[in-house]
Amino acid sequence: MQETEKIWMNGELVDWADAKVHVGTHGLHYGTGVFEGIRCYDTERGPAVYRLTDHLQRLVDSAQLLYMELPYTLEELRAACLETIAANGLSECYVRPIAHIGYGELGVNPGSNPIDVAIMTWPWGAYLGEEGQLHGIRAKISSWKRVGPNTIPHVAKATGVYLNSMLATSEARRMGYDEAIMLTDEGRIADGPGENIFVVKNGTLYTPDLSASILPGITRDTVMVLAQELGHPVVEKELIRTDLYLADEIFMTGTAAEVTPLRSVDDQLVGEPGPVTKEIQQAYADCVRGRTARHAHWLEYVPAKTTA
Ligand code: PMP
Repeated sequence: MQETEKIWMNGELVDWADAKVHVGTHGLHYGTGVFEGIRCYDTERGPAVYRLTDHLQRLVDSAQLLYMELPYTLEELRAACLETIAANGLSECYVRPIAHIGYGELGVNPGSNPIDVAIMTWPWGAYLGEEGQLHGIRAKISSWKRVGPNTIPHVAKATGVYLNSMLATSEARRMGYDEAIMLTDEGRIADGPGENIFVVKNGTLYTPDLSASILPGITRDTVMVLAQELGHPVVEKELIRTDLYLADEIFMTGTAAEVTPLRSVDDQLVGEPGPVTKEIQQAYADCVRGRTARHAHWLEYVPAKTTA
């Protein structure tokens, strides 16, 4: 991780090295936290955070699903994200707000422990590599099932859920693959560890629906809009692993991964990125960098750094 100057912690900017929590923090022991992964892009009009409000709404929803009362409003968190980016003088960066149950009681029941909130910002390149973006990655169906609606709410971007993602990712990497694909308990295609999945077949895009244990991805939502604007129908439906093996094209979407093509799944060759994937990659790049007037409202600009 590339260190930057400041981290926002519970209402103030502190030096990167001073942004510490106590070892007795509830969230550290039980995964009781919620977070977001957001990107800020350099545009012609300066740095802009992509769909910041939508990400923060998901943070608020995630907190509600964990019965956590956030001590800041969405608008306050929005201002804090922009302030942190500006304070670090960043133009392109990743933004990581996190809210977790803090220090107090250490029983599983959080009681009245405080909720701590922090925001980190730092430069972060292509999550699955430049090479992966250009030529596609090799994925493997994981032996780990994605958390389901009655285990941990999969709609919440909760820290504890990422134990599930970590196991799937490390299994795939140890087996020599780039990324994992997790199934639901019933064996339907769900999510990557940090991405949603799209299949292209005969010009139509298919993606698992929200009940298939997926995180409601903001990139997924963007891509569904862009694909339809480009004339490609999008269908949300249950998918099984053979839908992947017989796909014309497959790609994953996520804030970190952006639009990353898959070249194979379980060694079944899908091939080099196809025309629909490339078209969507380009449309996404144009959208997040403010080159698409129609979607200008998705960009939230970082105010210039003010010197006191
Ligand atoms: N699924 C999972 C499990 C994720 O962690 C992520 C990353 N937040 C996504 C999908 C993609 O979501 P988004 O496009 O909002 O980053």
